Amino acid sequence: MTTAAGGADALTRFVVEHAAVRGAYVAIPATARAVLACHPYPPALRRILAELCAACALLASTLEFTGSLIVQLQGDGPVRLLVVECSASLGLRAMAQWDAERTQALGADATLAELAGGPRHGRLVLTLDPKGAGPIYQGIVALESGSVAGLIEHYLATSEQLASRLVLAAADHGAAGLLVQRLPGSGESDDAAWTRVAAAVAGLAPAAMLASGPATGIIAHAFPHEDVRVFKPRDVRFECSCSRERVLRALRIAGAAEVEAIIAERGDVEATCEFCSRRYTLAPEEARALFASQH
Ligand SMILES: [Zn+2]
Repeated sequence: MTTAAGGADALTRFVVEHAAVRGAYVAIPATARAVLACHPYPPALRRILAELCAACALLASTLEFTGSLIVQLQGDGPVRLLVVECSASLGLRAMAQWDAERTQALGADATLAELAGGPRHGRLVLTLDPKGAGPIYQGIVALESGSVAGLIEHYLATSEQLASRLVLAAADHGAAGLLVQRLPGSGESDDAAWTRVAAAVAGLAPAAMLASGPATGIIAHAFPHEDVRVFKPRDVRFECSCSRERVLRALRIAGAAEVEAIIAERGDVEATCEFCSRRYTLAPEEARALFASQH
């Protein structure tokens, strides 16, 4: 049994016995804090990003994929871009581009649609990027529901044809989420179980979701009337895939003329990761050496 205490972030899958229902619970106190520490996000954006990180890990756990699951908000409102990326091994990272004044003006309780400038001004794009190991899959969600959980539920109902219930909770000390799905092939006898499970999820308090303690305890507390089988938890963590090698590759693509222009302007070459804010600095001779072997 793994506990959430001590910052051990984990995703725990479960099934409701004798009912065609599967689910997963995720708690990411340390991951959410690490993701949010990368940029000075305003409060509304902090909450939405933390919720999306929990949602992304839950979605990733329901899919068979390699590479990354990327949830991206594209809009023309106060938040122009928001990206949450979850690897197949549940490493999470995120970034956003926002207008500080306009985002602040919306207040701390702004919804994702409001941050995007309204339902007609933005869309949520879900991408499965196998990173070269196959074709890219994309799904698009209109920003019709106010909450992140509502948007993801709608996506699951339309794209996967699975009735799903999702609750998300975010606070300064972390984020958590619980997803249940009615499996295909479930019959009429499972209707009552699904109704009970869906009602239990709808009634979950954010504080109960964010409670520290073993996932098994939180799942049992959520479904007191069900016989739930809980699987071994999987680790979730903050992880950025940026590296010095990637920066060097990007500079090679930019070309010698571009790199010389940067050196002329600032004396060295510096690249900052837009996800984790890590800075990569190259001395002029190091940057020029990238092109020394090229003809
Ligand atoms: Zn990075």
